[in-house]
Amino acid sequence: MRKLIIEARVNEYMMREQGNPNVPYTPEEIARDAVACREAGAAILHFHARRPDGSPDHAAESYAEAVRLIREHSDILVHPTLGYVTLDAGPEARVAHILEMAQHPERAPHFAPMDMGSVNVDRYNAQARRFETQELVYRNSTGTLMHFADAIRGAGLKPYLVSWTIGFTRYVGAFMDMGLLEEPGYLCFCLTDNTFLGGHPGTLRGLQAHLDFLPEGRRIEWTVVNFGGNLFSLAAPIIAQGGHISIGLGDYTYHELGGGGAMPTNAEIIRRVAGIARELGREVATPDEAKAILGMKNPGPVAGAPTGAKA
Ligand code: ZN
Repeated sequence: MRKLIIEARVNEYMMREQGNPNVPYTPEEIARDAVACREAGAAILHFHARRPDGSPDHAAESYAEAVRLIREHSDILVHPTLGYVTLDAGPEARVAHILEMAQHPERAPHFAPMDMGSVNVDRYNAQARRFETQELVYRNSTGTLMHFADAIRGAGLKPYLVSWTIGFTRYVGAFMDMGLLEEPGYLCFCLTDNTFLGGHPGTLRGLQAHLDFLPEGRRIEWTVVNFGGNLFSLAAPIIAQGGHISIGLGDYTYHELGGGGAMPTNAEIIRRVAGIARELGREVATPDEAKAILGMKNPGPVAGAPTGAKA
């Protein structure tokens, strides 16, 4: 079986006050976590730029600085968010910081994400039985996605496809049929166990529903996130079925793994996933091996090649 690609999702917009003080915020903290996660077995690092107080940082320079520091210290593949301006920005503005970074080898990412549809992202408080907001929509129109597909391919990056529900996955099939996405596709099933109700539950049945509707006859490498929940209950079935794992403190505090009052770090979570994989007879992929599995032929994004390069 192919080696397992582990992606460290180190921070998202998780706050340390939510229970785990090991969530990295600044570019320096993110880069330190990148090195530790790579040593623990991660091939890909996903991050959101944050200010020192943890609030979202929308500055393109912060993304560039984080990627530069990560690449200076590690060969881990870099996957910055694209969703940081989600509500009213046009498609050009949303992808601009990624395209700018892609032109400079020292701060070029390897992936750019495409969530293949739109979804409500208001947080639901199950205890209080109310939504904390009512108008938050993660909007990705068909035209926007077509723009992203062109721009990401043109920049020589690998599209990181995200599916919240089966309808998103059907878009992946259609985009492949239209020649807008190349094979193998890298597709992340975003399960949402708590907080967000827009994804499938973080259960075996939630995962299986995704797998049942993978586009037929297409080469797709799939990975699984459990946003708002513990992914470990699904780790063994995912690994046994040939999937990949995307996990970290950005999604969930993983307080269950803490001991003696200490909370786990991202690297400790990654190390556990790697251990489970080895117990099941599946080795963990290095960044170079992950590139080969995902069909990323180029050594990496190339300076001065904003168009025509193939991811
Ligand atoms: Zn993210």
